[in-house]
This record gives sequence, C-alpha cells and structure tokens, in this order.
Amino acid sequence: MSHHGIERVAVIGAGTMGHGIAQVCALAGHQTVLQDVDPGQLDRALARIGATLDKGVRLGKVAATNRDAAWKRLTGTAGLIEAVDGADLVIEAVPEVMELKRRVFHEVAEAVSDGVILASNTSSLSVTRIGAGLPSPGRFLGLHFFNPVHIMALVEVVRGDDTEAAVVDRGLAFVKGLRKEPIVVADSPGFASSRLGIVLGLEAIRMLEAGVASPVDIDKAMVLGYRHPMGPLRLTDLVGLDVRLGIARYLHDTLKSEAFRPPTLLERMVAEGRLGKKTGRGFYEWDTEP
Ligand code: NAD
Repeated sequence: MSHHGIERVAVIGAGTMGHGIAQVCALAGHQTVLQDVDPGQLDRALARIGATLDKGVRLGKVAATNRDAAWKRLTGTAGLIEAVDGADLVIEAVPEVMELKRRVFHEVAEAVSDGVILASNTSSLSVTRIGAGLPSPGRFLGLHFFNPVHIMALVEVVRGDDTEAAVVDRGLAFVKGLRKEPIVVADSPGFASSRLGIVLGLEAIRMLEAGVASPVDIDKAMVLGYRHPMGPLRLTDLVGLDVRLGIARYLHDTLKSEAFRPPTLLERMVAEGRLGKKTGRGFYEWDTEP
C-alpha cells in the first residue's frame, strides 16, 4: 500500500464514467469493485473493460501480464453494501442528480467506517452540497475524471468547503498513482475545465453569429494559433450542442456572468435538432454511417 493508504476502491455506477474509472484503478494495482443497480449495465461495463484492455494489449500500450493482473483485481456486484465492504475509497459515478447522489452517499456512509474517503465524479454539482450532512464531510471530495477515462490524463480534485486538507492530499496522491495529472480546484460551478472550455465554445458561436469568420476558420485560429488539438466548434459538435447548452445555462444561472449567456444560434440549433455529430449535423456535416 502506498503513502495515500488507498488499496481497495469501490466504484458506484458502471456507466460511461464508472467503467472507465474502475478500469484505470484495477490497472494501477487497486483491488476494485464495480457496482451498479442495473445488472445489464454491469455486464456491459465488464465486457467493455475487457475489450479496452485487450485493445491496449494489441496496440502495445498494456502488457498482457498487466491486463491479466488488472482483470483479477476487478469484480462486479449489484449490491452496494457488498461493494463498499473493506473499501478505502468509494468513487461515485451515478447520474448527475443531486438527490440520487446524496442518497447513495448516505447509504454508503452507513456501511463504512469514518476513515473511508468518499468521492464524487460529478461534473457540475456542488461537492459541498453532495457531502453536507454526511457523518464525516471532511472525508468527502470531488474526483472529476474525463471521458474516455483511460485516455484523458486530467483529474480535477475538488475541495469542498468541508474537505480536510489531508484528504485533498490523499486524493492527489491517489490520482498520481493512477498515472493521471491532478489539479486542485475549489468547489465552484464548472470547476476549472468546464468554466474555461464553455466560455471559449460560446464565444466561438457568437463570432459565427456576428460573421467574424467561417466555422472552419474560427477552429483553425485555435488549432494553428494556439495549438489546441481541435477547434471549439468542432469540439462542440463532438460533445453535443444540447449537452453544452445545458452546461452554459447552468453556469449562466450560477455564476451570473454574461460570458455564459447561451447564444441565440446555439438555442436555435438545439431546437432544430442540430445537435452535432450524433445527429449528423451541427456546425459541420458529419457522416453518420458507422
Ligand atoms: P451513465 O448514465 O453512463 O452511468 C450511470 C450509471 O449509474 C448507470 O449504469 C446506472 O445504471 C447507474 N446507477 C443509477 N442509479 C444508481 C444507483 N443508485 N446505484 C448504483 N448505480 C446506479 O452516466 P455517466 O456519463 O457515466 O456519468 C456519471 C457521472 O459522471 C455523472 O455525475 C456525470 O456528470 C459525471 N461525468 C460524466 C462525464 C461524461 O462525459 N459522461 C464526464 C465527467 C463526469
């Protein structure tokens, strides 16, 4: 066990994020239990982890022995109490609904000792509010992973108002142990990543509305001028215009800044069902054939 004292990890929710988090934990040497209320989701999650690990081996990114060891460290269950039994860290990745997350953590807190660290992968909710009312709110923090988890290096370690400094430090050490790069952020809407990323995307849309440049040229400005891997409009197409509109509305409401007011063009495109890649059309035309 390393200096953060985290050996066993329980991941609650086996969807897009939960299965990826469980995979990187198991690969980094943690005994990992993945839990979901939906047994079908759990089966799919384990199958996806197996397939991703196999692909990693084929591409030469994962040694076959490490894949096999990771697979042995990983188990799945539908039982919450069973999942968190003996865990040093519980990471929650259930849907982005405040009451659901609070309910899950209250159940978890009843089943574990006070020393266990509890973390939420929330991308937008207040970590302080999720953790409020727990027996040990000081042990609660945000660990915000990015999709796809096995590829994306960043993890935002979110310090709630009540999070103890030592728990932040252990969170940082844990993330580094996963060979990911942590940043520490206060519990503020959009944390660091969404707040900056959304503002760039919204301004690009306003520039398009104002006829400053074409989508291709706006994106080129960032790709070639600032070395971004892709431009903000293309990224918006990939993420989904509806998803980004939802985040913009939330940040506009909570941060009370005009920088987050959703542009009319974005509202109109979403109303028309032009949601980006997933519908074949956003700021660009996408080939929807597989
Ligand atoms: P998802 O819908 O893919 O997965 C959620 C899973 O939770 C489902 O498998 C569901 O069956 C399960 N679940 C529902 N209720 C449960 C309960 N009571 N106990 C256990 N499992 C339960 O969602 P996701 O995209 O993986 O998002 C999970 C969290 O991660 C959200 O808070 C989201 O905001 C955050 N997040 C998502 C992304 C992303 O790109 N998808 C990125 C960063 C953070």
